[in-house]
Amino acid sequence: MTSSEFIPVNEPLLGERELEYVTECIRTGWISSAGRFIETFEEQWAKYCGRQYGIAVSNGTVALQLAVAALHLPPGSEIILPDFTIISCATAVVFNNCVPVLVDADPVTFCMDVSQVEAKITARTKAIMPVHIYGHPVDMDPLLALAEKYQLAIIEDAAEVHGAQYLSHHHNPTGEWLTCGGIGTISTFSFYANKLITTGEGGMLLTDDAEIAERARQMRNLCFLPGRRFYHEELGFNFRLTNLQAALGVAQLERMDEIVTRKRQMGVAYTERLKHLKGIQLPIEAEWAKHVYWMYALVLAEDTGLDAAEFARHLKKEGVDTRPFFLGMHEQPALHAQGLFNSETYPVSRRIARQGVYLPSGLAITEEQIDRVATSVQKVLAQ
Ligand SMILES: *Cc1c(COP(=O)(O)O)cnc(C)c1O
Repeated sequence: MTSSEFIPVNEPLLGERELEYVTECIRTGWISSAGRFIETFEEQWAKYCGRQYGIAVSNGTVALQLAVAALHLPPGSEIILPDFTIISCATAVVFNNCVPVLVDADPVTFCMDVSQVEAKITARTKAIMPVHIYGHPVDMDPLLALAEKYQLAIIEDAAEVHGAQYLSHHHNPTGEWLTCGGIGTISTFSFYANKLITTGEGGMLLTDDAEIAERARQMRNLCFLPGRRFYHEELGFNFRLTNLQAALGVAQLERMDEIVTRKRQMGVAYTERLKHLKGIQLPIEAEWAKHVYWMYALVLAEDTGLDAAEFARHLKKEGVDTRPFFLGMHEQPALHAQGLFNSETYPVSRRIARQGVYLPSGLAITEEQIDRVATSVQKVLAQ
């Protein structure tokens, strides 16, 4: 790359092993949702996260939908989730005839403010859906305690934290590092092209509960009955992943440690170059967390007079691509139209949605590009 080239916000890093495995699918004809890579991917990813069962699906959005469906909740059940997340979390709840209940974001990690959860629990609450944001884990112990106290399920959305870790004291008072996606009753992943592990499009549900796993497997595949194929006792979905996609996943799992190391180095490199700048808040790593910097996310101080949109425009002129933060669920017209969140306010989420951007963070990014991005950020802030 020459220094005048545009730096994209994400570029996947695919190698010879991916090519080899996908070629095997094509040479052998195993291109649909049967074939050796699907089960291998499910087993290896479940094992990596410390879970018993993996159910591969077509993307992270339907993984969440299937997770809620597999809990078999009565209509009108409430599920507590962060305001600051992707709409997939809310649609998973709404499409299952359940009610999403929001909490605001933590101003430092951008994950759900776990101290606000208990006040939102009612007799109808059946689950909490924590979402690890931009590579940093949610503080899970307080949620695990609430789940026990109120008999709630935890649906852990781990789509942005492949390989991140959380230091839990919940089951072990001296503390144990748990892999994110191995903590909730059910966890879900996305393997979209910009995630740490990618199959192009893809997702997975993990659990230790044999019954939930079986239900999810059935519902992924139209609820065909094992003995009587075209007879259906329940309505299901076609959420299957293909062997071609799983082949990409298996190839990348072989490099998982390298991928996590590389992302953590990227995070440290950005922080080293940006930490002296005034007017921006950088990502932190809590002492109970191992961050994987899915995206290196900044929040501009309001007194800079810059908002995220303006900042992004200036950086684009410098040849640096960025993306804005999520817009909170309480500001979504599609959810207002469902009669949800109309008079609610979540001030932290609202502010970071306007003041937050993330920098180029793909696995293919080079030291030289990180230097250039940091120089550009400095220049724009000084203007
Ligand atoms: C990417 C993402 C999803 C959705 O995954 P898709 O595979 O794009 O459907 C869900 N939750 C979070 C937190 C995500 O970042």
